Amino acid sequence: MAEAVFVLTGAGVSAESGLGTFRDAGGLWRRFDPMRLATPEAFARDPAEVLAFYDLRRRGVVAAQPNAAHRALAEAQARLAARGGRLFLCTQNVDDLHERAGAEAVHMHGELLKTRCQACGGIHAQHGDLGVDEPCPACGRAGGLRPDVVWFGEMPKHLDRIDEALRGSDLFVAIGTSGSVYPAAGYVAEARALGLRTCELNLEPSDNAHLFDLVRYGPASEIVQEFFR
Ligand code: NAD
Repeated sequence: MAEAVFVLTGAGVSAESGLGTFRDAGGLWRRFDPMRLATPEAFARDPAEVLAFYDLRRRGVVAAQPNAAHRALAEAQARLAARGGRLFLCTQNVDDLHERAGAEAVHMHGELLKTRCQACGGIHAQHGDLGVDEPCPACGRAGGLRPDVVWFGEMPKHLDRIDEALRGSDLFVAIGTSGSVYPAAGYVAEARALGLRTCELNLEPSDNAHLFDLVRYGPASEIVQEFFR
């Protein structure tokens, strides 16, 4: 295996932990309109409705457990580090299942189990429901806390760190992502242009399937373990 691996994960890696994907039939995202809920405008218009949606998702994340795919990635990360290599784990997921499996991950779309204060910028852990008038634990201002997730129209996080990691890698692996949300969806083309080998592990071909040198299709809990064995 390559010694510097860049892994991009999406909602598919957490699907077998019971967290619905974006496109899941019957999933949260089919029942709620993200443009109505996952935007700064929606939060300004109706904070109670937006917070209720995130409360529902947060409860799901707290109740979920990491699956074999999260564990296989954590083990591969530790194994590579032990022999001087690196597995950079970039996730679009806002859950904490990579961390609970023992991995270190960079959350480009933020983290659901954290809040950010719009007044002071402080970031704090949040495991329970978030009330509209809850005061910020740092500055005390009430009504300024929002989930620390990236909403539509907002800039993803850690882009410089991600770009640097991509440039320093020799293998790019996309896992459980549909290749429809940018900028993450563009990373495979960028990886190819940089000369990295590219691999897709997914339940079914993504929108970008033609850009991968190697593809493996099946449930993440099986194919991720096999790939990183
Ligand atoms: P997506 O829903 O667009 O695509 C999910 C992909 O996972 C699909 O390609 C699907 O074929 C695949 N998949 C489904 N079940 C799988 C399984 N068992 N094993 C392997 N692959 C499986 O998700 P995305 O590409 O991550 O982009 C959607 C956006 O939705 C992201 O911005 C993400 O932040 C957000 N989101 C996050 C979570 C989470 O944090 N767990 C859940 C839903 C949506």
